[in-house]
Amino acid sequence: MDIVLTGDRPTGKLHLGHYLGSLKRRVEMQNSGKYKDIYVMIADAQALTDNFDDINKVRNNISEVALDYMACGLDPNKVTIYIQSQIPELCELSFYYMNLVTVSRLQRNPTVKNEIQMRGFNTSIPVGFFTYPISQAADITAFKANLIPVGEDQLPMIEQAREIVRSFNTIYKEVLVEPKAILPDNSTCCRLPGLDGAAKMSKSLGNCIYLSDSSNDIKKKVQSMFTDPTHLRVEDPGHVENNPVFIYLDALCKDEYFAEFLPEYANLQEMKDHYTRGGLGDGKCKKFLNEILQNELKPIRERREELAKDLGYIFDTLEKGSIKAREVASKTMQEVKTAMGINYFGENKLN
Ligand code: ATP
Ligand code: MG
Repeated sequence: MDIVLTGDRPTGKLHLGHYLGSLKRRVEMQNSGKYKDIYVMIADAQALTDNFDDINKVRNNISEVALDYMACGLDPNKVTIYIQSQIPELCELSFYYMNLVTVSRLQRNPTVKNEIQMRGFNTSIPVGFFTYPISQAADITAFKANLIPVGEDQLPMIEQAREIVRSFNTIYKEVLVEPKAILPDNSTCCRLPGLDGAAKMSKSLGNCIYLSDSSNDIKKKVQSMFTDPTHLRVEDPGHVENNPVFIYLDALCKDEYFAEFLPEYANLQEMKDHYTRGGLGDGKCKKFLNEILQNELKPIRERREELAKDLGYIFDTLEKGSIKAREVASKTMQEVKTAMGINYFGENKLN
């Protein structure tokens, strides 16, 4: 039976990109009851690789991310939610995996390249940040997870993990399991752009609609969204490609929303055709998008507010989850050490 693992960096509250790119799928998987185990990790150690001098940011966002998880429907009775740094075996595994990866292989990772540039690390890349794809391989393999629901930016990480698994299993012994990425069905959700339409929506770029945003914040953010710069007057023909308002509609819109909020169209295609022809203003499109977002995010926000009243329960859950996760990781660690011949005492004692 399949084992699922995913994680998020506690570098901020979770946003619409997380929800559509990964969280929604996790909740569906959880509720299907088809999976042996589901692990959800708050990756604080990974967040420190580029926020090592901002410990409070990482520390404070642990409960924020946990609240977002549970507000979206993740149930700690069905999935194990835990904090990465509380599982020291993950560091231990990473250390041995480092022998199986070359510097040039890490340098070729397109997501890391892009993130280095975004963070202005060009001339002074912290080693910890540079090697985070290796630690991510440890995160996955420690739990023998084979299915990883992620956004598109994570594909190079999963590929790196697969390579490490193959090397390890060939050199030592068949102990590790090769993971497979699962992308959202809707291709728009694989990499949701930010409000400015440029880079992907990302906590570190501040171009997000957060799951915890108030109704008013959402409205204001939608109003300020970038659209088609050539669509100056309502009657001008517009472009739906690379237009974040239409990208978000592609990601979220269901036909029922037209009946409810914009009955002059039967579906998104009719609306797009009108925009492309000319005669449909950006204000009206944004108003419709706002209605949809309000509708999708209201129940999440309300659950979040309820959960936030009892942070003691949230920390309790994380502690229990971390203890359980550590048991699993330490079992894999023993198998890894045995496979590598670095168990010198007990049954395999050196003479
Ligand atoms: P940071 O800026 O700190 O890297 P982030 O917003 O990229 O934060 P992560 O915690 O790195 O978020 O990513 C967690 C998960 O969410 C990953 O599976 C990632 O692929 C997915 N994800 C993040 N941003 C998006 C997005 N804009 N569209 C789709 N999926 C996304
Ligand atoms: Mg990221």
